[in-house]
Amino acid sequence: MTVSVIDAALAPELATTVQASTGTSEASSSLTQADASSSSLSDAVSETTRETAVEKPNLLGMTRKQLEVYFESIGEKKFRAAQVTKWIHQLGVTEFDQMTNLAGSLREKLKRLAYIAAPEVVHREYSNDGTRKWVFRVGEGAGSLVETVLIPAEGRKTLCISSQVGCALDCSFCSTGKQGFERDLLPAEIIGQLWVANQSYMEDVPVGDRTRTVTNVVMMGMGEPLLNFGPVVASMQLMLDDHAYGMSKRRVTLSTSGIVPMIDKLGDEIDVALAISLHAPNDELRNELVPINKKYPLVELMAAARRYVERGAPVSDKTAQSKAAQKNANKAVQSKALQDDILLDDDPLEPSRKKHVTIEYVMLDGVNDQPKHAKQLIQLLGDLPSKINLIPFNPFPHAPYERSARTRIEGFQKALADAGFVCTVRQTRGDDIDAACGQLVGQVADRTRRAEKWKQKVVAQKAVDAETNQNTAHSVRGQRSEILRTRG
Ligand code: SAH
Ligand code: SF4
Repeated sequence: MTVSVIDAALAPELATTVQASTGTSEASSSLTQADASSSSLSDAVSETTRETAVEKPNLLGMTRKQLEVYFESIGEKKFRAAQVTKWIHQLGVTEFDQMTNLAGSLREKLKRLAYIAAPEVVHREYSNDGTRKWVFRVGEGAGSLVETVLIPAEGRKTLCISSQVGCALDCSFCSTGKQGFERDLLPAEIIGQLWVANQSYMEDVPVGDRTRTVTNVVMMGMGEPLLNFGPVVASMQLMLDDHAYGMSKRRVTLSTSGIVPMIDKLGDEIDVALAISLHAPNDELRNELVPINKKYPLVELMAAARRYVERGAPVSDKTAQSKAAQKNANKAVQSKALQDDILLDDDPLEPSRKKHVTIEYVMLDGVNDQPKHAKQLIQLLGDLPSKINLIPFNPFPHAPYERSARTRIEGFQKALADAGFVCTVRQTRGDDIDAACGQLVGQVADRTRRAEKWKQKVVAQKAVDAETNQNTAHSVRGQRSEILRTRG
């Protein structure tokens, strides 16, 4: 049974949606009541948000560098930035009064000038299998909701983060796209999702014990992260910063539908893992499934992916690189073979540190899942260092597609594996868990009435199809009776 922790006054439309979805989704029934002990978290967060309506900077969304500039701008020393970053992101502190290594006068000053607040949690579900889900309200409008899901797997906890409210790109198989675009998330609203997820473990995890907190982040929630570049990069810088979350750069993945110039820009700014939502092996089909392909066709996208993999780390990352080199230098044997091993396997929690692009490919029955598509995909990828992740389509109401059959997906996977590719199939543990990535807050809101228009289009098309079928049936029946008459 699902018991949802929803503030119906704040999110009445969501309360209805969740109720509706509990009736249809297998996995929602596996999601059980949020433990009562942690309900104080959302209350605390909402309180903090309400108190901060005045125009002050929210320090939660600032990188350490930005905080340094901020501290200097208010006449304080730069090193305060590192202290405050630790308080906020490692210790989960949002009250300046609790920052005991800051002088009393500085705490008072900060209380006057700034605030720290995560986005407001209006709903959350914690399941027995470890999956956790949060819905955040990030504005006043009915559709100002975004969702974050934490998916546990062997040895890791992956958090799927949203970057925009809705999405403008309108991929034909994506319910976020059907909701239209409302706005970009602010840095504090992006990193705030990780902050809240980590906070939810703080009560039962000793300080400094990272084993039970988030280990991996994928920017695969709502929105196109490369179209909200600055805030997304700032948030990822905090994820990598040792004074904040200290995550390995291979454990932070940005997924994009293919905004080519921004892929290059990403490489200039930060070194994180890249996933490309490919979904089709030729331009004709991709234009239909991922319309941004008309602007940035496959040849350009593949070239950008290759440039991203082949380039060195950005200048800002060189310090981290030299630290890693130093670590390796300390190892006794320095043979090339061993170095390769280290790159591939030195951390059992990390699948591979060797740089590659992850290719996401949603499996749509009869659309992109035929043997010819596998062949085209093999050709398209060529020798690009890549891993393919086949995603069984996650259906949503009025979706014009169906999920490919398991045997079809396995056949596709085998074709790629036979050609030498590493190809995995995303595990589905129930539809709404799978929805964690790519299909968040599927039915919560219709921002531009695009979904409604689209639904009308689908219904109209079905009516046309039905009529055509009827006409065909009539004419077949007519032919048949004609034949019978002739025979008779
Ligand atoms: N906008 C970015 C990131 C968010 S979508 C992007 O497109 O990459 C994250 C992933 O989920 C993408 O690969 C997306 O194509 C996929 N996705 C979207 N809708 C889906 C659905 N209904 N079923 C399965 N995967 C879906
Ligand atoms: Fe936007 Fe990604 Fe959905 Fe396409 S798949 S509509 S880019 S969120």
